[in-house]
Amino acid sequence: MKIICVGRNYIDHINELENQKPDEPVVFLKTDTSILLKGFPFVIPEFSNDVHHEVEVLVKINKVGKYISPKFAHKYYNQIGLGIDFTARDVQAKLKAKGLPWEISKSFDGATVLGDFVDKEQFADLQNLSFQLEKNGEVVQNGNTQDMLWEIDELISYVSQYFTLKIGDIIFTGTPAGVAKVASGDELVGFLEDKKMFGIKVL
Ligand code: ZN
Repeated sequence: MKIICVGRNYIDHINELENQKPDEPVVFLKTDTSILLKGFPFVIPEFSNDVHHEVEVLVKINKVGKYISPKFAHKYYNQIGLGIDFTARDVQAKLKAKGLPWEISKSFDGATVLGDFVDKEQFADLQNLSFQLEKNGEVVQNGNTQDMLWEIDELISYVSQYFTLKIGDIIFTGTPAGVAKVASGDELVGFLEDKKMFGIKVL
């Protein structure tokens, strides 16, 4: 399986990192080895002093497809989840400054948290889902999918022009504002429409 991530899909997050608003979705990949095993803590890697949490809504692909039109994209996924795209911001900033690919800042072991997935039919409107990340009991990121620059079906259409989508592939749809450094001892809990989707400890 592959993990396809979309960057800069929420305007308030683009502004907080002083990035440019893109003309097309910003896409990058994470390896399957970056997935944090269920029940395990997240260990801050020794090569970074500034690992950020990015809470994101996830889409799980359940049908093989290529060149999918936005109109038919909904046929290619049946589950929605919530996860974290951990990012070594200091490493990424150096790579970005040089115009280099930033995978090592986002795809190191443990950098991908996959929470629970739920059937999409449980939701009346996928483009009006609220989601939150709590750190030590306090809400630090608070988003709603209605604020996406590119909606889920548009993202699926876009990425399928380049990558054949396969069953089990997961799309990270971008993070809202509020990304910040994690520290040893932090407890991170994610909610999608008030349902707890994951809880992890940082070491
Ligand atoms: Zn992200």
